[in-house]
Amino acid sequence: MLNEFKLKQEICEIGHKVYEKGFVAANDGNISYRISENHVLCTPTLVSKGALKPDDICLVDMTGKQLSGKKKRTSEVMLHLEIYKANPKVKAVVHSHPPHATAFSVAGEDIPTCILPEVEVFLGPIPTAVYETPGAQAFAQTILPFVNTAKIVVLKNHGTVSWGETLQQAYWWTEILDAYCRILLIAKQVGRVERISPPKVEELLDLKERFGITDDPRRLHNADLCVNVDFGRGYAEPSATLMKKPEGPMRPPEPISAPAASDEAIERVVQEITDRIMSVLG
Ligand SMILES: [Zn+2]
Repeated sequence: MLNEFKLKQEICEIGHKVYEKGFVAANDGNISYRISENHVLCTPTLVSKGALKPDDICLVDMTGKQLSGKKKRTSEVMLHLEIYKANPKVKAVVHSHPPHATAFSVAGEDIPTCILPEVEVFLGPIPTAVYETPGAQAFAQTILPFVNTAKIVVLKNHGTVSWGETLQQAYWWTEILDAYCRILLIAKQVGRVERISPPKVEELLDLKERFGITDDPRRLHNADLCVNVDFGRGYAEPSATLMKKPEGPMRPPEPISAPAASDEAIERVVQEITDRIMSVLG
């Protein structure tokens, strides 16, 4: 039998982690766990994840109706419920705003793949859901196309939502993704981003299947092996303009100078200043 209090404690522990990691600010983010066919534990609204206590956790049914808990349930539980309904294997959902992963969606960049082996094996391609106003039913539905083929989705201009069979797992996907995005952004600042070659990516996918992870959409739907291959390409390479040879023989640049003022103009200015000084002196 499930120990409800222990699960509430675990939700609080994950809440403290997302807050300490900087994945949420103030009262942002929400966490839930499906304890039965029709019951879900979830975090309350307007409580910092860094200060969550087991007593704060709410119980809702699969329509979102609050059944118990002193505090009001998060409005974003509707998003969590859509995931549970669409994929019955999912037991835990974590929604937060991890800065590095969120920055990609703000910049309109898909999360590139074929770069780090662990990310290929644990996460695979990471989709970005279209933007919708948070809290509404339409927002919850934006992630439905990915619930059975991904473990984490980037919510356009908003954050991420990850899911798994345990709270720890759902949290890990967020942590792995944000650490990956941080590496990508640093690598892009250092220079260009190099990729693992397609045959080596295939080897990783074989390895993944040997681990028993058989849901990689690249194998299921024969999709593109690598996503956003343009990310970081040629960042350190000279641009076309810089590579262009100067036309004709090299000449030293012309010295930059202000247009010469005429003697008459200078005389006028000197006279004006002299007049002002004389008027001040009386
Ligand atoms: Zn949010």
